[in-house]
Amino acid sequence: MSVLVVGSVALDSVETPRDKREDILGGSASFFSTVASMLTSVRLVAVVGEDFPAEHLEMLAARGVDLEGLQKADGRTFRWSGRYHGDMVGRTTLDTQLNVFEHFKPQLPDSYRDSDLVFLANIHPELQGDVLAQVKDAKFVALDTMNFWLTEPHVELLRPLLKRVDAIILNDEEARMLSGQHNLVKAAAAIRLMGVGHVVIKRGDAGAMLFDDGGIFWAAAFPLENVVDPTGAGDSFAGGFMAYLAHAGAFNTMEIRRAMIVGSAAASFAVEDFSVDRFRNLTRDQLLARCAAFAKLVEFESIVL
Ligand code: AMP
Repeated sequence: MSVLVVGSVALDSVETPRDKREDILGGSASFFSTVASMLTSVRLVAVVGEDFPAEHLEMLAARGVDLEGLQKADGRTFRWSGRYHGDMVGRTTLDTQLNVFEHFKPQLPDSYRDSDLVFLANIHPELQGDVLAQVKDAKFVALDTMNFWLTEPHVELLRPLLKRVDAIILNDEEARMLSGQHNLVKAAAAIRLMGVGHVVIKRGDAGAMLFDDGGIFWAAAFPLENVVDPTGAGDSFAGGFMAYLAHAGAFNTMEIRRAMIVGSAAASFAVEDFSVDRFRNLTRDQLLARCAAFAKLVEFESIVL
């Protein structure tokens, strides 16, 4: 099955306590499609400016990502910069420049309209809605967002979308903002009442939780010795999650729980290097091996007392 993604394609500048990079490939849709292309075919909807390096497009094309829906506009590419705190979890956004995204109107190529799965990655909710309106009969739609879009007036555009998606993927702080509840079980229940069947709450190095009709499922964050750059972990999670579902072709709770593990495995690779670099030579077997390592983390013999 094919996956369509709309989101940001960006040039990021990232500072960690140990290192620093400028104008590296970033953006929600870049991480998503780099990961998802390991398992399925991906159609990308986004915009870049005249300054966007051709090598990034070549890398995505070489992975089989369909770039027909990627517009090139006059002006500068979307830019984001952030600094990580000493714990490598907390971060401060230093700057967000929408640039070409300010006037972007997504126009889906005809060949994209029959996409089976749609991922509305972190981008202006109006653009997420525009894309969804152009897709016919998608089988599974998921949406990601961030604190920036959960403030007035943007959040009012997000609310109607929640009734039209099957899953929402957001972090704990965002779940609290959207629901007005501090406790995450209560927050997920409140978000489900807004019309979303599957609520995925990402908790950084505390893993990710799924709340749906099947109850609560928790996927650990893979314990790593060396975290280089956490940027894009969430989008990589979504890439693994959606690509697994596209591969499975079914969307019941058990498949969604497996998708949580593939997403967590992808996120654990993302943080091991800057930008999408860890995925450049990563094989499907390495991804699968890490999925298997997740099962080992919670394997134990029955407890007999
Ligand atoms: P994550 O670490 O998963 O939150 O994703 C970080 C990525 O999101 C970076 O590569 C940024 O380029 C991108 N990003 C940051 N802010 C925004 C925004 N307001 N809209 C769209 N993408 C953004």
